[in-house]
Amino acid sequence: MRAFPLLLLVISVLVSPILGCELVAQGLSRVVIDPGHGGRDGGSRSASNSHNEKDLNLQIARELGALLAQRRGIEIIYTRTDDTYVSLTRRGQMANELNADLFISVHCNSMPKERFGSHRISGFEVFVLGDNGKDEHLKYIVERENREYGIAAETKGEMDMFEDLLNTITQEEYLQQSEMLQNEIFKQFAKKESPIKAKSKKQANFKVLRNAAMPAVLVEVGFLSNLHDEAVLTSEEGRSQVVYQLYKGVALYDDRLRVLNADNAFVSKGDSQVYRIQLSSYVSQKDHSIFRLGDLAGSLIELHEDGLYRYFYGSFNTREAAEYDLEYLKKNGYPDAFIRKMQ
Ligand SMILES: [Zn+2]
Repeated sequence: MRAFPLLLLVISVLVSPILGCELVAQGLSRVVIDPGHGGRDGGSRSASNSHNEKDLNLQIARELGALLAQRRGIEIIYTRTDDTYVSLTRRGQMANELNADLFISVHCNSMPKERFGSHRISGFEVFVLGDNGKDEHLKYIVERENREYGIAAETKGEMDMFEDLLNTITQEEYLQQSEMLQNEIFKQFAKKESPIKAKSKKQANFKVLRNAAMPAVLVEVGFLSNLHDEAVLTSEEGRSQVVYQLYKGVALYDDRLRVLNADNAFVSKGDSQVYRIQLSSYVSQKDHSIFRLGDLAGSLIELHEDGLYRYFYGSFNTREAAEYDLEYLKKNGYPDAFIRKMQ
């Protein structure tokens, strides 16, 4: 008799995805954490001259990996687990070969006093791949992090340049997700309890990001050239708070991914679909007049789902069509807005 309910359970587990009764929302499954530098490439030296960037990067990466590995279904892989040199190209290749779904490169920042006149520059920065723009500080950081040890820049052949271009285009496909993660992480450092202050979130042309064909970010957790940031990162308490904030950002990104993918799985079973921009969700119902849409015309749609009231704007045939309005809404009061596929 005991075998019978068990058999039923097995059958229902097998059948339910086909019937669409139970959808498994797909979040992160394989995350590659990349501790910057290593071996003969020490990275920057700390203000008190007692720490190398490469060692702190490894420590932070491992502590972040240990936290993330506790989440359901996430496997963590490191590009290095000890003090060895791995080329920038190889780091991304490893993540590609492993079919990872996220790449996080961990670094500590540094600004030499002789170049920028101060050791006071401090703070947390998170980057996605893009253009450096005209920022001199940024140009300096990117040049320093892109330096390949043992490979002279001028030996680059045309094939390499071509490969770089292709990789950049691939990474652009993931820009939306990379930025979603960038926002989640940045928000954690913008909280007042953060021991290192949120400084900026930008696009920059980091070589290590160019090679990863998946959503990818590079974090500069603090400035080793600044005594305060150095003290935070080298103390167990300060570092564990920084690591927890990184973890929290990734965990919230993972949650959002599950929601988005559950929507996609649900919609793929139906024939009519539409893209809407989710503005925000609340535990209580809101009057629609509280939502200011600025230059945009149209009404809101309200949906009561999982105990929350969610508010949506627009109706678009494709995700691309929704993106323009999404950009506008993000800049005008809805920084967390995102596109959802719906029926
Ligand atoms: Zn670095």
